[in-house]
Amino acid sequence: SKAVRLDKLLANLGYGSRREIQGLARAGGIVLDGEEVADAGARIALDPDLPERMRIDGEPLDPLPGLCLMLHKPLGVTCSHKEAGPLVYGLLPERWRRRDPALSTVGRLDKETSGLLLLTDDGALLHRIIAPKASVAKRYRVTLDRPLRGDEGAVLASGTLMLEGEDRPLLPVAFAAEGGTHCTVTLTEGRYHQVRRMFAALGNHVAALHRDRVGGLDLPADLAPGAYRVMDAAAVGMVF
Ligand code: URA
Repeated sequence: SKAVRLDKLLANLGYGSRREIQGLARAGGIVLDGEEVADAGARIALDPDLPERMRIDGEPLDPLPGLCLMLHKPLGVTCSHKEAGPLVYGLLPERWRRRDPALSTVGRLDKETSGLLLLTDDGALLHRIIAPKASVAKRYRVTLDRPLRGDEGAVLASGTLMLEGEDRPLLPVAFAAEGGTHCTVTLTEGRYHQVRRMFAALGNHVAALHRDRVGGLDLPADLAPGAYRVMDAAAVGMVF
């Protein structure tokens, strides 16, 4: 496996500057297989089991690069590094916001959309999921302001629905009525505010939007809003 300098590894995981990590190593704060590592310049093999074998101030080492997370995005947080106000990154351990390579969201959900959001530091995996040619299916549970008309499924399946301001119709969207003002849609595109604009084009208005599935991944029922789970990156790579 690949070997890296300990101080570089820990600095890239957000533990501090290389100088701070040298201080930590000298103070006995870094332990590998039960032994203190006093030399921060030591080369360490990047084995997948390193986080379990290494302790930093008594705590297991953070996940290595190649990290993939599933987050249950709550309402009211933004999928952006830049905007003001609460960000999805604020739901993660503080140190993780200093990682290099940085974690980024796999696509975006609107501030007022909840549900399954993946984050990764793996650019190739990110690309495989969000590239338009990948056509990954995303399923949304939709609550509307007004009852369904009855023709929504046929219009969405037709591949002719045009969104305001665009010149290319939407690809067919799978639709399932759930009664009254509730339905489920599954899209393979990801146009800007697509679900909200789709129902605007159908003469309705989205009151609430929740994503419960991306590709073959379902939002687990026991993952509460705001909570996240570290995924097995190899397993995620096999799904996409
Ligand atoms: N479509 C939307 O309109 N918003 C989202 O957050 C996702 C899909």
